Amino acid sequence: MHELSSEAPAAERGRSEALIRARILEAIFERRLPPGEKLTEDRLAELFGVSRTVVRQALARLAQDGIVEQHPNRGAFVAAPSRAYARHVLAARAVVEPEIAGAAACSCDDHALARLRRHIATEDEARAAGDRATLVRLTGAFHVVLAEVAGNPVFVRLLTELQALSSLSILLYARGEHSACPPDEHSNIVAAIERGASMEAAELMRAHIAHVAADMDLSEPAGRPEGLAQALGFAPRARQPR
Ligand SMILES: [Zn+2]
Repeated sequence: MHELSSEAPAAERGRSEALIRARILEAIFERRLPPGEKLTEDRLAELFGVSRTVVRQALARLAQDGIVEQHPNRGAFVAAPSRAYARHVLAARAVVEPEIAGAAACSCDDHALARLRRHIATEDEARAAGDRATLVRLTGAFHVVLAEVAGNPVFVRLLTELQALSSLSILLYARGEHSACPPDEHSNIVAAIERGASMEAAELMRAHIAHVAADMDLSEPAGRPEGLAQALGFAPRARQPR
């Protein structure tokens, strides 16, 4: 890999930026970069052999998609959505994704169906191989692929963000080791799409999102401590007048 200055041709910069984003996303979904992990600009520039400008652009795009949080002076971190935020994400998915599945059933051609089936075949391979990290990534990607074949670019953009935040939430709040999309549900959705059964595809997707949500513990812990003192076991104390 060679050094890319900020004067490098725009197309080359764009490719490097896309590569950095793809590698970071893959590392997050395969649990090699946990939520909250710091993403140091200098180090990334060194590892990818690119300028800090390119790294900064890649991080800014990831921040737009909700994958990275940027704090002035402290830098960039892998996002760590709260339980409340994860509930909002799933509520949004429950509205948007049945719509996408229904639209795909109306518009899918043979080429799109073949793409969906190929994707499910790779999920099955990962499941059979016990490759959980890849499975989590692929089952998440299925939902974005579905938005792509449904043909609405606004849904694709929305799903990219919602899916990434969902995967981060699964990493943080999964109830068990097996949290990913339940087996067979994707192929049942694709079968309904193949039959052109729009309402059935939408209904199966609604149930699927509910199962994904049920696999996560998104309730707030009971009797949550009020502030640092109580969390650390200090008795609450009346506030001193200033
Ligand atoms: Zn799924």
